[in-house]
Amino acid sequence: MHQNPECPKCGTDMREGWIAEIGRGTMPSQWVEGRPESSLWTGTKAPADKTFEIVTFGCSGCGYLESYRRKE
Ligand SMILES: [Zn+2]
Repeated sequence: MHQNPECPKCGTDMREGWIAEIGRGTMPSQWVEGRPESSLWTGTKAPADKTFEIVTFGCSGCGYLESYRRKE
C-alpha cells in the first residue's frame, strides 16, 4: 500500500506511525465511515464493518501528518 510516501510539503521521506488514544489501555485511533450516532451501550455506534484502523505518516522534516485508513 502506501510505503513511506514523500512529504507533499517539503519532499522529505515520511515514516509510518499511528495516532494513539493514550489512557488506560492505549489504543490506536479508528476511522468510522459515516456520521457518529449515539448508542446507549457504547456511547457512540462504531459498526465493525465500517471501522478501520488509521495509518498516519509523519514527516521528520516539517512535521506534516498524512493519514490513510487501512484497507482491511
Ligand atoms: Zn515535510
